[in-house]
Amino acid sequence: MDRYVYAFTEGGRDMADLLGGKGANLAEMTRMGLPVPPGFTVTTEACRAFLATGTEPDSLAREISDHLTALEEAAGRRLGQPDDPLLLSVRSGARFSMPGMMETILDIGLNDESVLGLAKTSGNERFAWDSYRRLLQMFGSTVMGVDSALFETVMARLKEARGAVDDLGLDTADLAGLVEAYKELIRQETGEYFPQSPAEQLRQAVLAVFESWNGERARLYRRREHIPDDLGTAVNVQTMVFGNLGPESGSGVAFTRDPATGARGVYGDYLPNAQGEDVVAGIRNTVPLDELGRLNPEAFAQLGDHMRTLETHYRDLCDIEFTIERGRLWMLQTRVGKRTAEAAFAIAAELVDEGLITTEEGLARVSGDGLARLMFPRFDTSAVGDALAHGIPASPGAAVGAAVFDSAEAVRRAATGEKVVLVRQETTPDDLPGMVAAQAVLTSRGGKTSHAAVVARGMGKVCVCGAEEIAVDPQERRFTVGGTTVEEGTVVSVDGSEGAVYAGAAPLVDSAVMRYFETGEASAGLVDAVDGAMRQADGVRRLGVRANADTPEDAARARRFGAEGIGLCRTEHMFLGDRRQLVEAMILARTDTERERSLKALLPLQRQDFIGILEAMDGLPVTIRLLDPPLHEFLPDRTELAVRLAAAEAHGSPPSTHDAELLDAVNRMHEENPMLGLRGVRLGLVAPGLVAMQVRAIAEAVVERKRAGGDPRAEIMVPLIDTVEELRLVREEVEQVLAEVSTHSGVPVECPIGTMIELPRAALTAGRIAEEAQFFSFGTNDLTQTTWGFSRDDVEAAFFSTYLDKGIFKVSPFETIDRDGVGRLVQIAVAEGRAARPGLKIGVCGEHGGDPDSVHYFHAVGLDYVSCSPFRVPVARLEAGRAAL
Ligand code: PEP
Ligand code: MG
Repeated sequence: MDRYVYAFTEGGRDMADLLGGKGANLAEMTRMGLPVPPGFTVTTEACRAFLATGTEPDSLAREISDHLTALEEAAGRRLGQPDDPLLLSVRSGARFSMPGMMETILDIGLNDESVLGLAKTSGNERFAWDSYRRLLQMFGSTVMGVDSALFETVMARLKEARGAVDDLGLDTADLAGLVEAYKELIRQETGEYFPQSPAEQLRQAVLAVFESWNGERARLYRRREHIPDDLGTAVNVQTMVFGNLGPESGSGVAFTRDPATGARGVYGDYLPNAQGEDVVAGIRNTVPLDELGRLNPEAFAQLGDHMRTLETHYRDLCDIEFTIERGRLWMLQTRVGKRTAEAAFAIAAELVDEGLITTEEGLARVSGDGLARLMFPRFDTSAVGDALAHGIPASPGAAVGAAVFDSAEAVRRAATGEKVVLVRQETTPDDLPGMVAAQAVLTSRGGKTSHAAVVARGMGKVCVCGAEEIAVDPQERRFTVGGTTVEEGTVVSVDGSEGAVYAGAAPLVDSAVMRYFETGEASAGLVDAVDGAMRQADGVRRLGVRANADTPEDAARARRFGAEGIGLCRTEHMFLGDRRQLVEAMILARTDTERERSLKALLPLQRQDFIGILEAMDGLPVTIRLLDPPLHEFLPDRTELAVRLAAAEAHGSPPSTHDAELLDAVNRMHEENPMLGLRGVRLGLVAPGLVAMQVRAIAEAVVERKRAGGDPRAEIMVPLIDTVEELRLVREEVEQVLAEVSTHSGVPVECPIGTMIELPRAALTAGRIAEEAQFFSFGTNDLTQTTWGFSRDDVEAAFFSTYLDKGIFKVSPFETIDRDGVGRLVQIAVAEGRAARPGLKIGVCGEHGGDPDSVHYFHAVGLDYVSCSPFRVPVARLEAGRAAL
């Protein structure tokens, strides 16, 4: 038979699915012999059964009653016993922490009689009536559905009448009066009486917690955090202990180390004469935990012992909630605590040093995302004071600028060189120009997958979204938060790594981690911890890590960052700037001679580029891709040209023949879908001499590097292959040029010739293609675009936020590899490619090569290397190591 309730003495931390995180950890602490007020947990399974059917499972009431009896026997008093009541707290606790999203009801068991008993046994009448009014308030709003603001209003009126500034200004008689007023309020609002039966209170409270799983707040939170909707919550029923019984009592929260920096030592806040709820709600100001050492040295020392015990047991940073009741310490909650990226590295390194965890475990506890965050400059928060507001850290980095409230203003001010921060309730595709112009984007609504977040991440722009405390008023062009108003033009600082906004220009500090990667010098502290993790990752990873780089500078940086070669050198980037005209001339050439002339002019320029890159990557492979994008990208805009010609005609001046020719060429080459048009290998097959010129530049660069005593390792890669026939034709041409340069120079030039696999047909026919290809590199950008039929340039801004909100996918497939679809093509191509050519070298050079989740996938499907932008190289190294654990 199903069992729905477990005493704390029966569970353990490995039962979090059933008991929720909180219940499992309460059970674990109970087992460890720590002072946990006794109680029991109603399982998530009971919640699921209740939510599915709308009624509680048959055996639940009996099980709860049995466990309650056991509690009562152990305590020697009954729930709500009139002369000496046992009181209970009822709290939610799901598998994954959902802070503040569900319900808590304290002081279950109080009624008109037992309040008098509590007053007597506690010797504190005021406390008893205050507890009763708290129960009425929580029970009334949570269980009986009375608007909680109505309770606040009654209380506020009373305080005003008494001239009291806070709750402490109300005396026993006031609180007893408040109890009557609350009971009456409940009756008026619901037509029902507050249940005087303690057992009935308990039953209803448990069901209310179940129901809170489907509350609007909770559902929204789950969607944001990608927590499944069908898990349900457990309910923890626990004997009340009281931190509000006088100065000898109090409540606090604590961490076994500093969760911001990882520094050793106990950190936390303490609030004398208060319940845990008061600490979290921030009603009164807490004192640093150290103060407890002065107030109650014994409890403080005990707390320290317990925390060390917990950290050793959990082998990780723990956070806890505790209460001291008349000098006696009680542990109310613990869990492995959240921490910043910096603390994650520092703590992992220290725990390894302390011998508490293995080096592998240390590596598992840090992440590429965390590392990426540490590579950005940050604000010196010690110099800025409190944040103005907090939101969701949606896109990392730190930026300073004048607040502006619409896209047009952002563009206008940015054009004058002013730095701006675009502040919106939420962004839409109309805000794009403003987002491009801004240093950072700040929104008051929306989560990590909102339009602002998705687009900002795509652009590498700092973004904080869902900063709900701020009220944005685009009409008045200002936002308000607390008592502060920020008018348009006021400078603010946005920390996209931590999700914070500051008033004024916060001072920036460079990233020590970035400096470490640039210089290779490890020092103490965080950098040392990062260094250790990188070494560990490099020691275990099987995937190679290369960089996408097309200048000698990028190549050199990539190498400093640990790249083991270049996986993609995009040669089109070498045709920009001044060279555009040469390309234009090549495209416009009317005769072979004219075309050859412009190709000849390009040749030495390209050769020089390749020499620089091969030198920077001496001894390491450099995969050079032949020209890929549509040629018309090198020509002027069609509309602009037409307007220019029309304007000339309108002024009666003779039309420029150059412009006329250009327009003619642009018209001839215009494509409706250039991404699916004349690009990649197709270009090389259609434009005579283009492939030969590029290959000659590569080969001559190799010769030159060899003559200089270098060890150039160029590889030639053909883009956008659909069929093996295309590759065969190009390969013949490439080999011919390589042979010519070898013969002519007397220096042997051997470059492996491979292909990108970036179209579904290529993946599906990879076995054939491998007969002609010496290596494969997955172009997962195009492969994603063509598998999904999503234009990679348009869809993210156009409709991805809607898709993400609707849960069609959890993350953009351009960011993280779509394992089911695109991944399947990758697997087919790997299997069939290697079957045809054993040992075929296979990498990936799409954006996914630097995405942590995708790196794990590429490891799993047996690629040889990933290639990503130089700044992502350390992230890929770290994740490749973690993938190998
Ligand atoms: C790709 O398509 O994944 C790729 C690396 O090539 P590009 O992004 O240049 O099209
Ligand atoms: Mg591509």
